[in-house]
Amino acid sequence: MITQLIKDARKIIIKFGSNTLAGKDGKINFDFLCEFADQAAAFMKNGKQIVIVSSGAQVAGLSTMDKWARKKDIHYRQALCAVGQVQLMDAWRRAFEQHNFHIAQILLTREDFNDPNRTLNMRNTLFTLIDEGVIPIINENDTVSVEEIKIGDNDTLAARSAILWSADLLILFSDIDGLYDKNPKEFPQATLVEEVKDLEAIRKNITIGDTNSFGTGGIATKLDAAQLAISYGISTILAHGGKPRCFENLAQGNQKGTVFLA
Ligand code: ADP
Repeated sequence: MITQLIKDARKIIIKFGSNTLAGKDGKINFDFLCEFADQAAAFMKNGKQIVIVSSGAQVAGLSTMDKWARKKDIHYRQALCAVGQVQLMDAWRRAFEQHNFHIAQILLTREDFNDPNRTLNMRNTLFTLIDEGVIPIINENDTVSVEEIKIGDNDTLAARSAILWSADLLILFSDIDGLYDKNPKEFPQATLVEEVKDLEAIRKNITIGDTNSFGTGGIATKLDAAQLAISYGISTILAHGGKPRCFENLAQGNQKGTVFLA
C-alpha cells in the first residue's frame, strides 16, 4: 500500500519532527539531512515534487546558545528559535547544495492560513518555487507566534500546507514506526497499526502516551493532522525517519509505517 501511494503521488509533502532531526548529542544531525537530500534528489529527478516541513529550530538554537537552555521564558524560547532557524536552514542548504538543488525558507503562522490574501500569496510562492525546481522548507514563524495565533505543532502545519499546495501525499517522519495501539516507548509489546481506514474508530481503540524530549505534539497531533489531510483527500503516512534511507525504503516496501487512507 505504501509503495503504491508513493509511486502514484507526484506532489509529496514531508515533515520531520525535532526528535528525528536531532542526533544523539542533541544537535542537528547533518548526516541525516545529507542522507535525506540524497534520496529526495533522486525522487525529484524521477519527476516527484517535494516540499519539506522541518522542525528543529529550537534544537539548532540550543547548540549555539547553550547558556539559554534553562530559560523557559517565552521570549527566550522565541529568541532561541530565531537563532536556530538560521542554522537549521543553513544545514538544509548545505545538504541540498551537494545535489545542486536550491532551498527556500517559508515561515508561517495560523493567521496566514486564515487570511485569503496571504493564502493566495503563499500558494503563488509555493507553486513558483516548485515550478523552478526549488525545494520549499516550511516552519512555524515562532517570532510572531504567541499562543493565540500559533499553529503549535508542525504536524498540523504540514497538513495545512499539504492542503494549501493540493499535495497528493503527506508523510510524517517521526521517531516511531507508526501508530501503535499503545505507546511503544512504555509498552514494548505494543502492536503497529499498519492501515487506518476509519480514524474515528481507531481513536477509540488506542491509548495515547507521552511525547519525547524535543517532541511537541506527540501522537495526538499526528492523528489530528492525518484527519485534516484525509478530509481533503490527501492520504497520510506516519513512519520512522530515523531508519537508514527511510524515504527510499518506504517507497520500496522495505520499511513499515502507518497509512491513513483518504
Ligand atoms: P515528533 O518530534 O516526530 O513530532 P513526538 O515526540 O511529538 O514526535 O511524537 C511521537 C511520540 O509519540 C513517539 O515517540 C511515542 O513515544 C509517542 N506515542 C504516544 N502514544 C503513542 C502511540 N499510541 N503510538 C505511537 N506513538 C505514541
